[in-house]
Amino acid sequence: MVTTPDNFDHPGKSSNGRAPRSPIPNGPYINVLFTATMEANVGPNRDGTRVLEHKLTAESKMLSCQKSLTLRHVWDRSRYDQSAHSHLKSTEIDISLPMPEEVKRIRENSRKYFPEINLVICFVAGDYFVENGKQSDTVAYAYKNAGDNHHSPLYTVLICDQAQPIACAHELGHILNYSNKNGLAHDPNPHPDNPDHSANPNNLMYPIPGSIITSEQCRQFFESTIILQN
Ligand SMILES: [Zn+2]
Repeated sequence: MVTTPDNFDHPGKSSNGRAPRSPIPNGPYINVLFTATMEANVGPNRDGTRVLEHKLTAESKMLSCQKSLTLRHVWDRSRYDQSAHSHLKSTEIDISLPMPEEVKRIRENSRKYFPEINLVICFVAGDYFVENGKQSDTVAYAYKNAGDNHHSPLYTVLICDQAQPIACAHELGHILNYSNKNGLAHDPNPHPDNPDHSANPNNLMYPIPGSIITSEQCRQFFESTIILQN
C-alpha cells in the first residue's frame, strides 16, 4: 500500500482559488466529495463519466421518493477525478476489518480541504473487496462509523470501479439509514441475515440491488441528519 500524504491535490485556501465550490442546489442535498484512487477507471481519458454515472443513477433512484435529492459534489470542477492521490486497490481492502489507515487519510484530507462535506465517495480500482481474508462478492461498501473527531459527521463509501452504477444508490441508502436522526436504522423490511438490507429481492436495499424503494424506506431515508435543505 503506497501512501502519498503530501501529494494531495491541494485545492487551495481561497474560495475563488483552486477550491471553487459548486452552487448550492435547490431542494434537499448532501455535501459530498467524489474522489478516486490513481488506478481507478473513472471513464475514458479519465474524464470522470463513470463516477458521474453513479451519481446520476443514485439521484434518479431517489426520485421514486417523490423528492429530488442532490448529491452535491462540492468541488466545482468539470471532472470527477483521481484527487484522492492514493494507489489503494479493492484487493487491499478487507471490509471485515476496521477502516484502513489509507482510507482514513483520504477522508481526513477530503475534510481538511472541504470542511462542509458529510460524505466521501471514493472509487478504487478492482472488481471486488476482500472479506475475512478472501475475495468477496462485495463491489461497494459503506462504513457505519462517521468519525468522532469532527464537528459534523463524515461518512465514507468505497466503490469498485467495475461496479454497476446502481451500487452508489444502494450505498447511499445505507448511509441515509446510518445517519438517521434516531441513530443507526435498520431497513424497514429487514433481511433475516442482515437487517441493514431488505428482504425483498426486487428492492434497492437487497444485497444485489433491485429497483424498488418503498414509501416506508423513503420516509426513513429523509430522516437522515446529513440531508440539508436550501
Ligand atoms: Zn448493502
